[in-house]
Amino acid sequence: MRTLAVQTTFGSGRRAISLKSLFTPSPPSDMVHGSSGKKQRILVQPHDLFHPLSKSPVKEMREKGALIQQHGCCTTCVTETTAMGKPATREPTFECPDCGYPTHCSPTHWKQDTTHHDELCGHLREANEDEHDLRSGRTLREFEFPSAQLPEIVVNLSSWDSFLYTRSFTNINSNRAMRHVSKVLTYPVTIGSVLHQFSPFVLSSGLTPEGLKSMTALRTTIKEHDLARSEKELAMQQMPLRVFVLGARAEAMLPPHLYLQLAYLLPNSPVHVYFVGPECIPAADEARSTIVVSSRLVLKYHKSYFHDAIWNFAPFDPYTDVFFMFSPGIGHPRARPGWQPTVEKLLETKCAVFATGFHERDMQSDVRALREDFGDKMDWLLEPRENPFSSLKRDFGIRNLREWAISNWGIYGFRGKRYEVQRQE
Ligand SMILES: [Zn+2]
Ligand SMILES: [Zn+2]
Ligand SMILES: [Zn+2]
Repeated sequence: MRTLAVQTTFGSGRRAISLKSLFTPSPPSDMVHGSSGKKQRILVQPHDLFHPLSKSPVKEMREKGALIQQHGCCTTCVTETTAMGKPATREPTFECPDCGYPTHCSPTHWKQDTTHHDELCGHLREANEDEHDLRSGRTLREFEFPSAQLPEIVVNLSSWDSFLYTRSFTNINSNRAMRHVSKVLTYPVTIGSVLHQFSPFVLSSGLTPEGLKSMTALRTTIKEHDLARSEKELAMQQMPLRVFVLGARAEAMLPPHLYLQLAYLLPNSPVHVYFVGPECIPAADEARSTIVVSSRLVLKYHKSYFHDAIWNFAPFDPYTDVFFMFSPGIGHPRARPGWQPTVEKLLETKCAVFATGFHERDMQSDVRALREDFGDKMDWLLEPRENPFSSLKRDFGIRNLREWAISNWGIYGFRGKRYEVQRQE
């Protein structure tokens, strides 16, 4: 049975989120029946978070270690090639005592790997402690989020710190808590930070003159929503903002009420978020293809490619519609042909499109592919740059512990060129 946490109570104060539901599509049963049920056993003490994976008190962490030993490769071996010219990959059966991950095939290869000690070990150690903390069994108060903003309080969107402070996230009082929360909030807050009138993306920080035109169009609509706030009849006629999230994966699996944090940033706007993509999970369950989270926030799920489903959404309007693609991997040789028909259609809409990448190289490869395939048909709205609302966590792959990703590390924007029609007479 698919159980996505949708039991939200509108307008109530803080709401607790079962953390498990953030990482797995099926939350544990105590979530479904109300969290007051059984008490969780404390597995790891807050002062004792570090454990080598093989000796972890947490079953999932021991399993993770076993998976890496089975499917991973020694990070020294991969840099050495055999006489055959292939990488000599032996399994990482040796656990680094500093980070607790199985990183190398032997103590000798571990000692040789200066890249590991200098660049990766510290981050892996942090990931080790963070993951133990999430599974420690303690009550994760940092995931109890604030509700709507008082109108007189101005949100500051220059950084995570200022955002969390001005939005009264009072339960976040450590860097670790901030890392946990940033990993899920990066999706709604990145969207909100782009649309908001106090966006950190301005002309002096990467927004182009064309970008300013697009954002002005969208903010005109938001302003109209603000003006219509007090007039019921006017409010009825408002077109909602439509936020399309294409190639949706993890961001579509988050508990729907997380997106209230986007709605709170646009307090008078009706917001419809469309998750579209072949891996868009909740859409598999027909009954849940639309989730009404609040009177102003609706989430819709379409399990298909955007260019195949486009007639569900057309016509498009640059004043109300905006697109986001979170780490689409457009430049990845295997993904590139699949994205081409979607980008083609996106450019035709003339609506603003924003995309992210999970590190510099990933973002630049996507940007390069876009330039090569569509350069003469597009205008850049936001120059590629670091995203102040990226996840603060570094996620490591199982197969190669040298590879890591940070959700929404960088961001850029573009849209279809608007040709000036000139009559030649
Ligand atoms: Zn080795
Ligand atoms: Zn080390
Ligand atoms: Zn290490």
